[in-house]
Amino acid sequence: MSCFGGIEAGGSKFICGVGTGPADIQTIQFPTTLPAETIGRAVEFFRSHGPLTAVGIASFGPIDPNLQSPRFGYITSTPKQDWRNYDFVGAIRRALAVPVAFDTDVNAAAVAEHRWGASRGVSNFIYVTVGTGIGGGAIIGGRLIHGRLHPEMGHVRIPHDLVRDPFAGNCPYHGDCLEGLASGPAIQARWGLAGNLLPDGHRAWDLEAEYLALGIANWSFTLAPELVILGGGILNRAELLPKIRERLAGVLNGYGEPPTLAPPGLGPLSGVLGAIALAST
Ligand code: ZN
Repeated sequence: MSCFGGIEAGGSKFICGVGTGPADIQTIQFPTTLPAETIGRAVEFFRSHGPLTAVGIASFGPIDPNLQSPRFGYITSTPKQDWRNYDFVGAIRRALAVPVAFDTDVNAAAVAEHRWGASRGVSNFIYVTVGTGIGGGAIIGGRLIHGRLHPEMGHVRIPHDLVRDPFAGNCPYHGDCLEGLASGPAIQARWGLAGNLLPDGHRAWDLEAEYLALGIANWSFTLAPELVILGGGILNRAELLPKIRERLAGVLNGYGEPPTLAPPGLGPLSGVLGAIALAST
């Protein structure tokens, strides 16, 4: 019977898994350090659980997932210097000698949620993660959207009231894009405390809900999803999802039906299960 490997490569941690789906997946997690060390740990895990039929990689980006490109399988212009222009697929293929599938972490998570999770039977939805960065993957008309490379939903521009929020934003490319205002590192830079250390009821959460509602409104007007799945560490804050729902209704202001907002059906395993889904298709 086939067994697949999956890597969810995040900016701060790697989750590796082996199995065929949610029922039998076994996972390991470790911090993202230098490429050689991090990939070495992944390869060691896979070798100890082999043989594998194929491996899927669900990576932080930007990446080149275009099979026709000479740089297919690379992480490209990431702010993480050590991983810039890194041949991720090549490294795994050389180490394990198996076929390797490659996409963004959020595209892969969308595929997993569609196959096993919160969006089973839903043809039009977006999977969004809010953590170290902000990213989104969309399945519209039953098909995963790639475009030239892949969407970069976290870098949309949103209104930024400098009186209410003087923080300039910390996206190295755009300053106060959505990711620059609402990612985990942006919350920490603005308030001087990581999100998980800020108390319930802090005004950080009203601001966060406002920014995410504005992002969701932009994506909704562009892609017309029925459902937006909101994952990532920042969304672990229980008060956030109801606040976003309320603000989204305010932002849309009666113009069209707001999409349903829901947490991932696969919890924190959407990404690594997505990698396994990529490997098994
Ligand atoms: Zn940006």
